[in-house]
Amino acid sequence: MFGHYNVFVHVSQSGPSRSYLTLLDLLCKHYCHTVIQLSAYVQAHKDGSLQHLLSGENEAYDYDLIVIGGGSGGLACSKEAAALGKKVMVLDYVVPTPKGTTWGLGGTCVNVGCIPKKLMHQTALLGTALQDARKFGWEFDETVKHNWDTMKTAVNSYIGSLNWGYRVALRDKNVNYVNAYAEFLEPHKIKAVNKRGKETFYTADKFVLATGERPRYLGIPGDKEYCITSDDLFSLPYCPGKTLLIGASYVSLECGGFLAGLGLDVTIMVRSILLRGFDQDMANRAGAHMEEHGIKFLRKYVPIKVEELEAGTPGRLKVTAKSTETDEIIEGEYNTVLIAVGRDACTDKIGLDKVGVKVNPKNGKVPVNDEEQTNVPHIFAIGDILEGKWELTPVAIQAGKLLARRLYGGSNVKCDYINVPTTVFTPLEYGSCGLPEEKAIELYGTENLEIFHSLLWPLEFTVPSRDNNQCYAKLICNKLDNDRVIGFHYLGPNAGEVTQGFGVAMKCGVTKEQLDGTIGIHPTCAEVTITFYRILQHFVG
Ligand code: FAD
Ligand code: NAP
Repeated sequence: MFGHYNVFVHVSQSGPSRSYLTLLDLLCKHYCHTVIQLSAYVQAHKDGSLQHLLSGENEAYDYDLIVIGGGSGGLACSKEAAALGKKVMVLDYVVPTPKGTTWGLGGTCVNVGCIPKKLMHQTALLGTALQDARKFGWEFDETVKHNWDTMKTAVNSYIGSLNWGYRVALRDKNVNYVNAYAEFLEPHKIKAVNKRGKETFYTADKFVLATGERPRYLGIPGDKEYCITSDDLFSLPYCPGKTLLIGASYVSLECGGFLAGLGLDVTIMVRSILLRGFDQDMANRAGAHMEEHGIKFLRKYVPIKVEELEAGTPGRLKVTAKSTETDEIIEGEYNTVLIAVGRDACTDKIGLDKVGVKVNPKNGKVPVNDEEQTNVPHIFAIGDILEGKWELTPVAIQAGKLLARRLYGGSNVKCDYINVPTTVFTPLEYGSCGLPEEKAIELYGTENLEIFHSLLWPLEFTVPSRDNNQCYAKLICNKLDNDRVIGFHYLGPNAGEVTQGFGVAMKCGVTKEQLDGTIGIHPTCAEVTITFYRILQHFVG
């Protein structure tokens, strides 16, 4: 078989290179069945690999691996592949928002996602802590107010340090980072365009797509002209003032939550339900807490146009919306309108059609097999662009790392997308792992489930006497499987910290009996996870 290919290939005097052997191996793996040897040749000619060999170059490709997208998944994958001895390039480029906002290396999480969001959420929590502090005896006379510019500058300078850290890490690990927009030209060849418009071409044996998502707009008059998205919010050069958020999922509730915590007038426009896909009992409790703390919800409305009443920083905008149930039209005036109606996968302008990678035409997502391989064998995909997977940073990182280990480290460990713990950083945080109650009932039937509920009042809330009867936990167990926990839900302070440990327990297949046999840490909120009593079953809700 190798002899057959040698007919076409010029081998340099120093003997066949590693990439040459890899290529032959690849050709044999993918194409060499005696009857289709000719088509293998044609295919190799088509995808450019044969020309590379014929060109007499020592290396068949410039790189072993090119990763497109330097966000959570792309950085993890490229660093791991380089650590395993491969020649790796990562390209990252941020297309500015319609408002002109742009940022550095690291992708969504670091620049316009998890990191600034959590820091601004923390800013809001500190405001609440200041109010509590008086009840604990702290005396301070001056009027407490928040300065947007100070917060924004502090948060963004921290992000700047992370951007720098990522560049250094890539250099240290010998990953070649290029700040350019990548687009496929041929199956093994991309074009990279930098911000000055300069085009460079690179080839690689394998590719990983990790291009993430960007906020979706509504397609109504005034949306791109006058509204912002989460991509603009965290570096907004002025305090947004009275704000309307459109959408009712993670991004909207989290941003609305911290803006209200800074003392701003906040309204959230909800098309249908809060936090689709999450346990609705818990989602509504998180919403009720927000409402109790002054956030207004305009339920069952969608915007139809946004007009500018006055330019400024912030200016004044008029929003017209219609009911989803009646003919009613409403109007409202806001300083800022933030659109958070979901995110589109960045897969439509990267030449996937030229190389035959299939995407779901409805949402631009990339279907992959359980090894993150697309329908084109040498092209893989990870992170937010994947069809039907969690859109979370740790998921993208895990998938990227494990993919590199499978490709280059002889590993066969696959990314486990089941029982992924997550937290929504609403003012009262909501952590969950496993199934929502609705889904558990659908899959197993009510009669086969044992569901435990517990209200909790965190000790730290008692002295300032706030938020009694608001924190809540729920455990869903499968009676058919030894009362194994299949759903965990917690609404309360430090939900991420509480839920992370529980995620480990669920990964180990924890049962109710094992939780009952675990000793708690007192006094904590997390001890609720091991003090669900059978007698409390359905005592509320
Ligand atoms: P990204 O991190 O988006 O990286 C993709 C990169 O590729 C980007 O830099 C992009 O500019 C670049 N790129 C795109 N196309 C090209 C191209 N053609 N050439 C070169 N570069 C390109 N997740 C959590 O786990 N916890 C949270 O608390 C959390 N909070 C969030 C808050 C907000 C407001 C948002 C929007 C998201 C949040 N997420 C959170 C989700 C998390 O940010 C994403 O799941 C994660 O960033 C996905 O990583 P990724 O590698 O798939 O893509
Ligand atoms: P999302 O989960 O897709 O939710 C979109 C929201 O917008 C829904 O409430 C939806 O309402 C609404 N909507 C859609 N189209 C609309 C329209 N035309 N008019 C009015 N409302 C409309 O999007 P997201 O909040 O942007 O989050 C994206 C992903 O980022 C999430 O899946 C999550 O994984 C990740 N993320 C994670 C965190 C975290 O870990 N804490 C935080 C933020 C984001 P319907 O329910 O009616 O469809």
